[in-house]
Amino acid sequence: MPKEIAFKYLRFYEDKATLMHHFFFPLNLKELKDFRVRGIKNNNLLVDDDFQARDERRLEFFIQRKFNELKTLLDKKPAIYLHSGLNIPLIGLVEVGIIDRGTNVIEIRPVTGCNLKCPFCSVSPEKRERNFIIEPEFLVEKLKALIQIKTKNTKIFINSQGEPLLYAPLAYLIKGMKIQDKIDSINIVTNGTLLTENKLEELKRAGLDTLYVSLHTLDKKKAKKLSGSIDINPERILSNILYAKEQGIKVVLTPVVIFGENEKDIEKLARFCAEKGLKIAPQNYLRYKFGEKNYQQRDFDYFYNWLNNLKQDIGEKAFQLPLSIEEDNAPPNPFIKGKVEKIPIVLPGFFKHEGIGSLYGRLVSIINGEGKKTAKARIIRTKHNIIAAKCLN
Ligand code: SF4
Repeated sequence: MPKEIAFKYLRFYEDKATLMHHFFFPLNLKELKDFRVRGIKNNNLLVDDDFQARDERRLEFFIQRKFNELKTLLDKKPAIYLHSGLNIPLIGLVEVGIIDRGTNVIEIRPVTGCNLKCPFCSVSPEKRERNFIIEPEFLVEKLKALIQIKTKNTKIFINSQGEPLLYAPLAYLIKGMKIQDKIDSINIVTNGTLLTENKLEELKRAGLDTLYVSLHTLDKKKAKKLSGSIDINPERILSNILYAKEQGIKVVLTPVVIFGENEKDIEKLARFCAEKGLKIAPQNYLRYKFGEKNYQQRDFDYFYNWLNNLKQDIGEKAFQLPLSIEEDNAPPNPFIKGKVEKIPIVLPGFFKHEGIGSLYGRLVSIINGEGKKTAKARIIRTKHNIIAAKCLN
């Protein structure tokens, strides 16, 4: 009788295997015959009944190699799975991993990619060459080591450069982080389109404290325009937001204000928040180097003038106070700006011609480092332990 074996984050199908639901690699059952796999049942593998630990190791090795063919289901872009077997750090990049800017806030970016294509996006996930996803246990292990140096309780912000709800084990990750000492609160920044009542219950049980939802209008037609022609349902997002509140999750709406486009919509959203006991924190649209530049940005004097008028009109109560951020220890920065270093390249990068290196316990984004084994590179950025370099060879 063949027996069933399961891999925690993998599901098997006739022609592919999926990793954490949103990623896949092609797989033909015939390829698995040599590994004593006889079929698929319940999306797990059926193997010979005398399948041994030795066979399992061979099979795991084969599957690890298949990760080289990993792709994103959403946009079919290549994807990279960062797991403990790679023996790499998770600090150093801005797009994925852990960011510690020397305060009581740590940013966690477990996945890249987004289900929307907002024409004002500050990070434009669509323009990236590939996506990244991190094994939750690996992230928790690295976070655990990092918080040892903190003297204050730490707020965790899961603020992917993309949509964090595309990370299937999000609740599992939250749970793993919440049980660590010195973790004060867990916060997620999301576009809200993938929220469901079940998901919210699961996130609450895992330990989620606050949900920051980037909803920019209540008008369905405008919402479609502001999502890059993707149909979204603001009514459904609102109903899930209210459900989150009922569950005891604090909700803050974080609409982006694009003057001339949606400031009136945000006034409506602010009134809704005042009425329902929710908080709102409008953000001024800014044009970023790697972001979308389809609108004109207004300066902060203009923005704050508009915001203060709105506060006077509706009342301060609905507006979220700025986050209290305090300085705290951060890991020392091992790099010197301007210095040339020999950096082993361990992964391809997010952008064309970029390679990702690993040195002194940091990941390093290296311009023109793609395809090289080692880059002789000049360090061009070190701030907040986000390291960038330019390849010279
Ligand atoms: S603004 Fe947010 S939701 Fe919109 S495309 Fe960018 S990451 Fe996705």
